[in-house]
Amino acid sequence: MNDITIIPSAGVVIPAPYTARHLIGGVWMDSADGAVSDRFSPAHGSLVSTAAKGGRAEAEAGIAAARTTFDAGDWRFSSGKERAAILLRVADLIEEHLNRIALLETLESGKPITQAKGEIAGAADLWRYAASLARVIHGDSHNSLGADMLGVVLKEPIGVVSIICPWNFPLLIVSQKLPFALAAGCTAVIKPSELTPSTTCILGELLIEACLPAGVANIVLGFGDPVGEALSTDRRVDMVSFTGSTDVGKRISAAASGTLKKVSLELGGKNPQVIFPDADLDQAADAITFGAYFNAGECCNSGSRIIVHQDVAEALTAKVVALSRKVPFGDPLDPATQVGAIISPEHMAKIDGYVQAAVADGADVAIGGGALHVDGVGAQFYQPTIVTNLRPDMPIATDEVFGPVLSVLTFATFDEALHLANNASYGLSAGVWSADMSTCLTFARRVQAGTVWTNTWMDGFPEMPFGGVKESGQGRELGRYGLEEFLEVKTVQMRIGTTRQPWVSS
Ligand code: NAD
Repeated sequence: MNDITIIPSAGVVIPAPYTARHLIGGVWMDSADGAVSDRFSPAHGSLVSTAAKGGRAEAEAGIAAARTTFDAGDWRFSSGKERAAILLRVADLIEEHLNRIALLETLESGKPITQAKGEIAGAADLWRYAASLARVIHGDSHNSLGADMLGVVLKEPIGVVSIICPWNFPLLIVSQKLPFALAAGCTAVIKPSELTPSTTCILGELLIEACLPAGVANIVLGFGDPVGEALSTDRRVDMVSFTGSTDVGKRISAAASGTLKKVSLELGGKNPQVIFPDADLDQAADAITFGAYFNAGECCNSGSRIIVHQDVAEALTAKVVALSRKVPFGDPLDPATQVGAIISPEHMAKIDGYVQAAVADGADVAIGGGALHVDGVGAQFYQPTIVTNLRPDMPIATDEVFGPVLSVLTFATFDEALHLANNASYGLSAGVWSADMSTCLTFARRVQAGTVWTNTWMDGFPEMPFGGVKESGQGRELGRYGLEEFLEVKTVQMRIGTTRQPWVSS
């Protein structure tokens, strides 16, 4: 462990805790029963926020506000130009408040401050991109239905949307949903994770400052039970847009089926990267290191499973091990840190459980394999870990570990590599490394994944749709498809003049 790069305490003074409240119908409020939940920094152990803990009453009030506002019609029938102007103001305000938001994001999630700043800038860009879409919403016209008929297909906002978010990219993920829903003319009730409520509340402050009408975006804080459940079952909600674990996604899908509301799900992944022997191994090793440790591996797109040709497996693994030693793990408040703390002690135990079970089952640990103590900060960190000599059916090779842990599998033929890549319940993203574009494209077309990267990993753009197949989800975010999710199609068929033939003869 001594040869790992560790950044000790940066000595930054932790600011006074943020107080997070519900935002319902334009009014900030505590829970009726006064319940709160405290959040302690996973890295430093200090209290960083106290959030109102909502119950069914607060969830219902948030839903009622969103429903009444949608039905009143002012927002849904506002012009795309008006909605875009507000979204653009929000983007500017996010940038103005970038440092404040990034600091709270780091304190609640444990992610490095430099990374958090990049994410907040990325979130502002998403609001800008969604603003551009607000002005190009349109349907179709059909003028080939006969001389006396004209058909139009309208694209209308779907209605009230429940937005339920995870803790790993709090502001970024709400920004993959909310501005697109607002661009479409929907109203929303947002529930951030109970572990990272604060930056969504800061966003609420900015929405008010940007003059978003009261009741269009409501925030209800609290846990999955009861707030998330109420947002998934209530008849007044038209759609649930969820990002989180596959288990909870399945529960939401079942809960929403009672009212047949639309559900879009962005869920987990066990994302393979396949490395062919003609690949640039240095480039691949760097991207694999990034994919394994970015956000401490607590990332749906974590490249947690590499499938490497047997001829280059040893050389590639050695390169990734060498790079792993150089990645700065430690105090997330130090700008030099690239990997921060793990979200909770329970999650630490889960990550370690996978590693220890694999070892007990005969796997080898090439580096890491346990908790990491960071001087002057704490011990809720996990070492960069690479596990080799695996069987493909071991839980560490099939399950989403969600930690800085890389599983290495090997293959001999293209078909074997493809089989290993596809032999998973997940299908979020996949990567392929080869100098031969035909190998890359053949793999890209045959692999079961919502996103495929060739000779790169985890690039993303607001313009490019994102989502999963199989148990990684349904629906798409980002790009034009991300807007379409929040639009409903209505067909209007119009007879011109009085040419209709009577059905009943007179
Ligand atoms: P989680 O599923 O535990 O929680 C997500 C949200 O759902 C939280 O707000 C939680 O309070 C809420 N929730 C819990 N139970 C609920 C219920 N019964 N009904 C309604 N809501 C409920 O996920 P997490 O631990 O916060 O996040 C990690 C997971 O998110 C990982 O599996 C990761 O892969 C996934 N994720 C996916 C993407 C993607 O785009 N595909 C992005 C980020 C994270």
